[in-house]
Amino acid sequence: MRVLLVGGGGREHALALGLAGDPAVEALFAAPGNPGIAAVAELREVTLTDPAAVAALAVEVAADLVVIGPEAPLVAGVADAVRAKGIAVFGPSGEAARLEGSKTFAKDVMTAAAVPTARAYTCEDAAAVGGALDEFGAPYVVKDDGLAAGKGVVVTDDRAVAERHAAECGRVVIEEYLSGPEVSLFVVTDGEAAVPLLPAQDFKRVGDGDTGPNTGGMGAYTPLPWAPPNLVDDVMRDVVHPTLAELRRRGAPFAGLLYVGLAITPSGPRVIEFNARFGDPETQVVLALLETPLAGLLHAAATGTLSGHPPLRWRDGAAVTVVVAADGYPAGPRTGDVITGADRAGIIHAGTRRDADGTLRSAGGRVLCGTATGPDLAAARDAAYALVRDVELAGSHHRTDIAAAAVDGRVTIPG
Ligand code: AMP
Repeated sequence: MRVLLVGGGGREHALALGLAGDPAVEALFAAPGNPGIAAVAELREVTLTDPAAVAALAVEVAADLVVIGPEAPLVAGVADAVRAKGIAVFGPSGEAARLEGSKTFAKDVMTAAAVPTARAYTCEDAAAVGGALDEFGAPYVVKDDGLAAGKGVVVTDDRAVAERHAAECGRVVIEEYLSGPEVSLFVVTDGEAAVPLLPAQDFKRVGDGDTGPNTGGMGAYTPLPWAPPNLVDDVMRDVVHPTLAELRRRGAPFAGLLYVGLAITPSGPRVIEFNARFGDPETQVVLALLETPLAGLLHAAATGTLSGHPPLRWRDGAAVTVVVAADGYPAGPRTGDVITGADRAGIIHAGTRRDADGTLRSAGGRVLCGTATGPDLAAARDAAYALVRDVELAGSHHRTDIAAAAVDGRVTIPG
């Protein structure tokens, strides 16, 4: 199988490692890729959000499968353009990707499918915003309606902050606050059959103890020792299958990766958000434990043959990833600093670039992550932090408490 991977972040580096490790893959291309991906794939240049350009590249490299990592190309319709060339693509159509591209569309689908989620209003002016904030009370949850790379959401007790964010965004979704630990569940689907991966937890806030602003994600771990045993089955029954059925009914079947972001509230799991692609950095830990060859699984989803795919096999133990972020991230990351100690197994590149002389430099807010497995969560956590300790990058920061509460048995479901 010849595979073209679209994207160039940490998620794509993890996907590239999984794809390259599948014996069925004879050639792996990545566009644009990154210096970490370059070790396992041939890199090509492409404008990610240009459907015609990505489709042309897929034809040029004679791809049997195109895997689209980030949301922006999906929302731009890249999967449609590749499919139109008769090439199998792992990633939903532009229409189905609106599940991520528009919070209002996602809420509408959830309402129609009776999926448990926070009550919400879409608001376009100050009066509507004020009314919604009054109804739900603090903590206030205000979400930009469009794509915002995980950073368009403000959760705050400060009414003025909530109002300012709403005014800056224009069209927002204001919703009821959901309390309880969060879970990311990835589901591989061909639109009808659906296979859940291991649930993971990520850490959205920049600082230890979940303080500071939201980010794209500062770390993750899997599996979740505290999760209710029937969690995945319940979410497949109450969320995933009804959502897929509703999208089929609307003529926009969702084939690709359905990311279900959940809060485990006292009254059960509630959907916080859907994404139309693998989450970053949860992909790093989930794929670290997946033993089933990745390309075969994604190809089955891309070709409508997932129901015939064998059950997934998982490695024993646990995986943890810790993100190293650039000075100033998330507000204003500084780039161009030299990185040392990163050319080792377990270091996943997210925002890096390499000079002609081989020097590695930071090129984004989330620069890299240390990803490790171990026989249990405590061992995986120690190993991930050992990787991160050996990386030097001026001004960088990382959370010191990734997976700590889970290791110590301190994650509890309220109520
Ligand atoms: P989203 O982009 O919708 O995933 O939101 C980003 C983060 O904001 C989530 O991971 C949660 O930590 C938080 N969040 C979003 N919606 C809610 C909600 N209704 N209640 C509590 N926290 C939320």
